[in-house]
Amino acid sequence: MEVAIAGAGPSGLFAAVALARRGHRVTVVDRDAGPSDDGAWARRGVMQFHHPHGFRPQIAEALRAEMPEMLDALVAAGAEVVPAPGGLGSPAGAPALRCRRSVFERVLRAFATAEPGVTVGQGHVDDVLRSGGRAAGLLVDGRPLAAELVINASGRSARLAADVRAPAEGGDCGLAYVSRQYTLLPGAEPGPMNAPIGIIETLTGYMVAVFLHDNRTFSALIIRPADDRRFAALRSSAAFETASMAVPALAGWVAPDRSRPISPVLPGGRLHNTYRGQLDGRGRVGLPGLLHLGDAVCTTNPSAGRGIAVAMRQAVNLLRLLDEHPGDPDAVALAFDEWCTENVRPWFADHVYWDTDLLRRWAGGDVDVTRRLPSDLIMEATEADPALWRVVGPYMAMEALPSSLDEVEPQARAIFAAGWRPPLHPGPTRDELAELISLPHP
Ligand SMILES: Cc1cc2nc3c(=O)[nH]c(=O)nc-3n(C[C@H](O)[C@H](O)[C@H](O)COP(=O)(O)OP(=O)(O)OC[C@H]3O[C@@H](n4cnc5c(N)ncnc54)[C@H](O)[C@@H]3O)c2cc1C
Repeated sequence: MEVAIAGAGPSGLFAAVALARRGHRVTVVDRDAGPSDDGAWARRGVMQFHHPHGFRPQIAEALRAEMPEMLDALVAAGAEVVPAPGGLGSPAGAPALRCRRSVFERVLRAFATAEPGVTVGQGHVDDVLRSGGRAAGLLVDGRPLAAELVINASGRSARLAADVRAPAEGGDCGLAYVSRQYTLLPGAEPGPMNAPIGIIETLTGYMVAVFLHDNRTFSALIIRPADDRRFAALRSSAAFETASMAVPALAGWVAPDRSRPISPVLPGGRLHNTYRGQLDGRGRVGLPGLLHLGDAVCTTNPSAGRGIAVAMRQAVNLLRLLDEHPGDPDAVALAFDEWCTENVRPWFADHVYWDTDLLRRWAGGDVDVTRRLPSDLIMEATEADPALWRVVGPYMAMEALPSSLDEVEPQARAIFAAGWRPPLHPGPTRDELAELISLPHP
């Protein structure tokens, strides 16, 4: 079968290689030309490209199932395969990858480009071609690219064929990223860690994290409410360094005797929690032969590092459904939509509830014990009662859906209702940090 894929991000390239290995001829089209001859890759339009990514075990599992050589190639490029027994943030699973997103995508792109049966081309996808009431290919820079199956893997702002799809749910999640990449100095040890990615800590009104990557590189990250304009100042290197040195979890990494920056400060655009199914507003297949994949289906606040894991799971299940229903695009779309509704949408709903409540608490509100606790507080409650790990661990590892937490939510809520609160991590409050970065910097 001739397949056309819009978007050569992780979803589009993974699907392309896997489909080609099933005997299909696949053309992937992206507006991005790929790395330039000197190795630079700005990747305009994918703002997260240089921001830190945690690569959960589901990603390594999908690669191992479909293209095991890519794992070897990632390791050869400097990525580290690390045990993550309970997922990225928990103490106890399958291996995760420590690697810059740019390294992951370079290796994946090189794989797809070298794969017999895959063509990776450059061009802007203007629309999905239609013929006889079904998808017939892509319109690329005004020229037709004929295909029997079309996959929209064009990412979180996907607008392709919007008229045959019910509108997206959700929107801006209200949080914003600002990060910077560093390299450890020769002989320097990594800084403090409390998770397979590195370290992640919540302070009063904001959150910080360090993600260890490949080749002794890492990213320092500050996550704050998007509408707190005082933090726009963090775009300056001096302000970012001042803020990082003021927070012990970051200072232990970015101190000048341990590391040096290798990128400018990277401000993040708006972060989204969105979900969009495969079907039209009436619950029917809008355009047979067109499927949506990856962030074009679901994006979640990246602070839990779920995006590519969700995208890979989608891709693995889409491949299974294409194998199960050869030549029946309606059946594939309906079954894939049902699978996404049951297995993807809950991660979106989880984050919407979590982020709304987090922003309320970051604005000064206390834990609300009159209603269901959001997932972050149920995770926090494991500190007070480690027995909760039995249920919380699989959720954190994304081995169990958010609804699995229902079993222990009343127990966790009782802990908070009795007055327990998570211990505060050392460092300035958000107001104190805002004050610090507003001062003139040396
Ligand atoms: C700040 C941030 C941090 C993140 N951190 C993590 C993390 O820690 N762990 C994790 O698993 N996930 C993380 N994510 C999510 C992750 O980046 C996404 O899930 C992932 O990029 C989805 O891949 P994709 O291939 O579906 O979409 P994308 O990576 O967005 O790729 C879409 C591609 O389509 C192309 N395209 C779009 N429109 C057109 C068009 N009209 N014509 C031609 N080409 C087009 C784009 O150029 C792009 O190459 C993060 C996201 C953000 C925003």
